Amino acid sequence: MKKVALHWKILIGMFAGILFGVIFSLLSFGPAFISDWIKPFGTIFINALKLIAMPLILASLIKGVSDLKDITQLSLMGSRAIGLYLLTTLTAVTIGLSIVNLIKPGNTISDETRTELLSAYASNTAAKQTVAAAQKEAGPLQALVNMVPSNIFAAMQDNGNMLQVIFFAIFFGIGIVLIPQKKSQFVKDFFDALNEVILKLIDLIMIAAPYGVFALLAALVAEAPSPDLFKALGLYTITVLLGLLCMLLFYIILVRLITGKKIGFFLKGISPAQLLAFSTSSSAATLPVTMERVHEHLGVEQDVSSFVLPIGATINMDGTSLYQAVAAVFIAQAFGMDLSLGAQLGIIATATLASIGSAAVPGAGMVMLVIVLAQAGIPEAGLALIFAVDRPLDMCRTSVNVTGDASVSMLVAKWLGKLGTPVVKNWDDSYKN
Ligand code: ASP
Repeated sequence: MKKVALHWKILIGMFAGILFGVIFSLLSFGPAFISDWIKPFGTIFINALKLIAMPLILASLIKGVSDLKDITQLSLMGSRAIGLYLLTTLTAVTIGLSIVNLIKPGNTISDETRTELLSAYASNTAAKQTVAAAQKEAGPLQALVNMVPSNIFAAMQDNGNMLQVIFFAIFFGIGIVLIPQKKSQFVKDFFDALNEVILKLIDLIMIAAPYGVFALLAALVAEAPSPDLFKALGLYTITVLLGLLCMLLFYIILVRLITGKKIGFFLKGISPAQLLAFSTSSSAATLPVTMERVHEHLGVEQDVSSFVLPIGATINMDGTSLYQAVAAVFIAQAFGMDLSLGAQLGIIATATLASIGSAAVPGAGMVMLVIVLAQAGIPEAGLALIFAVDRPLDMCRTSVNVTGDASVSMLVAKWLGKLGTPVVKNWDDSYKN
């Protein structure tokens, strides 16, 4: 019998989860049943993914860097990746601003809806503002200071410290390249083997992916706020989704033009990571799968994928920056404010920086949105207006974030002559055994 491809299995899991959530929400005992008996399986699935993220970054990056013939390749790879990341983020913000100015979704919000939303979500807004305030107080070089850990074991204890672990892994890898091969071989072999083991663990976790996404989506549907609020924010939601769609098209065209790879090849290869990003709303939790797909299914050599993708997961969030631009202007429109061209240009700069600073976890983009609003002089309380639909939009923007990282890694690989034929030619081979 023909095997069903992984992305179809995940899609079926997602739809079944939504259906289950909708049906059980209608039953009196349904929501409690989902929260007690279904949701925990979703949490276990996300935990399993997060569990291997740090060891994977460490092992694959050390292996990737230590495989390099010389260190100059590292700076070449780094400068190209960061340059492309910046370029795609700026494109995303520009697309977001253009669409929101064209559609003007904020003008359709009535005074009544505005007051209702502001009071319904005031406390959630205050919580996000407190987190953002702590980030705002940091000095200009704090981000740089934060990158260098004082203790690698302490750094690895917190999944939020990804950049610190990346820094250590690159530093350690450079050390390996610089000592004689006779001495480094043992360490190299060790990380090589560790890397293989972790890739196998990803295969095992992915067997559970359809069930994991089922549980995650059933719980999300059961906990969703009233559909009336969704309706009021319909045009805003459509604006964000349209922008994200444009961004996806942009990647597809970019990959097709620069690497010459077929659109179907790219989408088929990356779709399990996209679906997982959608279900978990976290690029960090999706990272192990993104790394595996890009290497094994899109043909990016591991020294590129292990370097470009973890950095992308932390600093390149095109979907998030696009959403921040749309949300900021939407809130301004809803408050009847007319943003000058200068203020909109300011949003391009702050949304770019805010997306770089956003953590790769659910809802992080909204925390950093506080900073974009403050900079543009838009009332921060306006965050309450968009709270109701933030989660579904977070799911979509996370998918775009992950697709952006994968596209950039393909471009960098192509330019460095490191884009080959995929290691796994039959799409589901790696999940069979
Ligand atoms: N959830 C997003 C991510 O992990 C970040 C955000 O926009 O909230 O990529």
